[in-house]
Amino acid sequence: MNPLTKKLIEADKKYLWHPFTQMADWLSSEPVIIEAGEGFFLIDSEGKRYIDGVSSLWCNVHGHRVKKIDDAICAQLEKIGHSTLLGLGQIRSIELAQKLVQITPSALQKVFYSDSGATSTEIAIKMAYQFWHNSGRKSRTKFIALENSYHGDTIGSVSVGGIGLFHGIFEPLLFETFFVPSPHPYRYDGTPGACTDRSLKEIEDILKKHAYEIAAVIIEPLVQGAGGMIVHPEGFLRQVRQLTAWYDVLLIVDEVATGFGRTGKMFACEHEDVQPDIMCLGKGITGGYLPLAATLTTQEIFDAFCGKVSEHKTFYHGHTYTGNALACAAALASLELFAENKVLESLPTKISLIDEVFEELAQLDYVGDVRHRGLMAGIELVQNKATKQSFPLEKQIGARLCSAMRLRGLMMRPLGDVIIVMPPIAIDIELLEKMLNIIKDTIENDLPRIVQGI
Ligand SMILES: *Cc1c(COP(=O)(O)O)cnc(C)c1O
Repeated sequence: MNPLTKKLIEADKKYLWHPFTQMADWLSSEPVIIEAGEGFFLIDSEGKRYIDGVSSLWCNVHGHRVKKIDDAICAQLEKIGHSTLLGLGQIRSIELAQKLVQITPSALQKVFYSDSGATSTEIAIKMAYQFWHNSGRKSRTKFIALENSYHGDTIGSVSVGGIGLFHGIFEPLLFETFFVPSPHPYRYDGTPGACTDRSLKEIEDILKKHAYEIAAVIIEPLVQGAGGMIVHPEGFLRQVRQLTAWYDVLLIVDEVATGFGRTGKMFACEHEDVQPDIMCLGKGITGGYLPLAATLTTQEIFDAFCGKVSEHKTFYHGHTYTGNALACAAALASLELFAENKVLESLPTKISLIDEVFEELAQLDYVGDVRHRGLMAGIELVQNKATKQSFPLEKQIGARLCSAMRLRGLMMRPLGDVIIVMPPIAIDIELLEKMLNIIKDTIENDLPRIVQGI
């Protein structure tokens, strides 16, 4: 290890607190320090290269140091880095809003910017709540969400989050939410159809009983990411839309992870022709360069906030860096690259390759389930394939398997014992194949040893 890396690691351990990380483990580990990126690779302070297998936490789209995005940010720097959207307009934020309205489902007409996925869902929740308040139906204050759902880490987004491990401890701080089982066929004893029906029935039961209290249903469309890449059976989202429309309740789709091509179409909603009332965007919006998020909504919801100041209909919400100009410039360049490089058109062959390799993976020891929608995939490892029994949490099988992949030049981050496969969607097919081979090799050759604790 070169002396500079050693110094950096010491300083990291002295000064930083890492997110979602048991710092006691971190302090006794030998962390990798990233210095640069190039294309679909991360490069550490030792010059070692790794395939960016989880898109730098699910946000990178076109790779790193992409000339067009780099140039767009530099060109914007020649104008201005940031100015506020509170009471002022800004050129790039206008251009991007127009683009976003053009490419999202047609019902969505207005763009409210913020700076992270969590703020985009927090805004959606407050917007839905105040929409009913402004419309004179003030009893509609509650939300329905799915178990295992993840919408970010602020208190509002945690209130509609359903992951016990992350969210349980904060329960006394949260508002009350109705939770419904996710349609998760692998963990359901019955057919996928019956699994879907059970979730739909529970949603409908709540809507029937509490419709006058419910402001909105919030959902990750098609795939629940942080909950372990739970892939919903086809038709579930469409039927949730039908139910919410029937009971006159808003539908919030959180496309923070699924948006920008991840599931094979630009937005997951398109697979089921769903027109949401509110859509949350983040992660891939800037191609993975800068923090930016957006909450899009309909003309009807927007109109309910218009009136005289004295009517108190204003949406009193905003963030200092809302609609940051550099981030909007990066987002505009990223959207242009989608067209120039025919990124969406390139996905079907990559998705077929994942299908093929996953079929082989499913045959391997300890591989309980393989599931994916587009380039959003998970491999669930279990102790016993027949009973689907999980490994004990403290064995950290997923984390240890990913460490083995790191030694082979693939950077991964699991969710418990679900190995997350989320390469940048623009990855070339050869590199995707290489990545899948490393995963297969590691499961075949290293996993048995890891499981036996050798
Ligand atoms: C990552 C994620 C968020 C939170 O985004 P941050 O930018 O980390 O705050 C919200 N919703 C979904 C579905 C996500 O995957």
